[in-house]
Amino acid sequence: MDEQLLKILKKVYYKKKYIKDEKGHQTTVETGDLYDCKTGTTMYSTDNLSSKELLCLTQCGYPFNKITQGSHDETIHKLKEIIKHPNLSLDNLLSAYIAGFGSFPRGRQPILSYLFARAVPVHTFCNSHEGVVCEVCSLQKEFWLEKGKELFRNYWGYSWNERIAAFYLDLEEFSQLNPVAPTKDDLHIFYTVIDFIRNAPKDETVGKLEQRIKKSNIIPHCEKYRLRGQLITLAELGVMPNPFIPPLFDKFTDFMTQCDIGRKIPGSSRSDVVLPLAGWHGENGTGQRYLYGKCLSGQSLFLSDIFLANE
Ligand SMILES: [Zn+2]
Repeated sequence: MDEQLLKILKKVYYKKKYIKDEKGHQTTVETGDLYDCKTGTTMYSTDNLSSKELLCLTQCGYPFNKITQGSHDETIHKLKEIIKHPNLSLDNLLSAYIAGFGSFPRGRQPILSYLFARAVPVHTFCNSHEGVVCEVCSLQKEFWLEKGKELFRNYWGYSWNERIAAFYLDLEEFSQLNPVAPTKDDLHIFYTVIDFIRNAPKDETVGKLEQRIKKSNIIPHCEKYRLRGQLITLAELGVMPNPFIPPLFDKFTDFMTQCDIGRKIPGSSRSDVVLPLAGWHGENGTGQRYLYGKCLSGQSLFLSDIFLANE
């Protein structure tokens, strides 16, 4: 995505919603965005764009303010189909993830979407306790998304393991992009972060680790929740291991079981860190899955090679 479009999208999707008055009190700003309670989506106002920016946005073909509807059963089916796409090989996805540490923030989400799509069993919507979401995978029976906002989040460098409704959009768009290889700088950043995790003090929490990484200024534009997403991926790959729940790379855990496990993890009620990352602690380091010594010798070794070497 070109820089100019990214800037315009940031202006429409991340409008300032509050300002501080002279007494320091926050007041809400009228943005012109319209929220629809029925679908849980927003139509975004373009009032804050210049006429030149508006022209660029309308002429570039970006799916701005495009609401799409999805259903649980169809989405599970589509996820199973799309992971057969040749651009969605594990190597491509891991390369893009590592490039996500520097040159290519868009590369962060697809590996998470893929791991879910690969691990989730084929099933129909199940809510025997009459909840709103599926008891197997936590997806709603029907849902709506504003396509442009979802893709913008990915380009902006956000990634998350619980936003399942948006996984298909992510994989569909990513599969149309040319495969990306990490640069030398990306690899350096990635290895440095792995080093931070591997040498974590035994009693370090996820929050403390995040602060340490952020303070080092090693990741460009590092911000709390963008970094959180990057670490969630390491946890789902099993590179940041935990004793409570298997990573998605190894095994699917149904949503009800996840909730039960979540309640048993010490301190989880006060924390906004999600599983499986929430189960990591400094003494867990990077576990068996990452053979750091091989990287120090200068080989550009990817996680997939390391996994194969360990199996
Ligand atoms: Zn389900």
